[in-house]
Amino acid sequence: MTKLFQKKVEDFICEHCGEKVVGDGYTNHCPKCLWSKHVDVNPGDRSSSCQGMMKPIKVETEKGEYLLTFRCEKCGFERRKKVEKRDNFDEVLKIVKIMAEK
Ligand SMILES: [Zn+2]
Ligand SMILES: [Zn+2]
Repeated sequence: MTKLFQKKVEDFICEHCGEKVVGDGYTNHCPKCLWSKHVDVNPGDRSSSCQGMMKPIKVETEKGEYLLTFRCEKCGFERRKKVEKRDNFDEVLKIVKIMAEK
């Protein structure tokens, strides 16, 4: 496997669902299944060595916007991120439903 490092935009294959994701240089979560990867310490810096998969575990609303909380399956690190337009809203609603069932 060749590792390709690019400074800005990076495309990647989602390690959770296999979707090919076209990067925007910032987002590293999959718009289809919403899973992310623990690669950043600060958003976009790609300086974490963890590389664990980050599961979307919680949805909150704040000022009319949806916020997703991801938790790293490997180290437990949590990050909140705004739901973007291209994100799969069905998946967002699934998380809402799971939360409601708990
Ligand atoms: Zn995915
Ligand atoms: Zn981690």
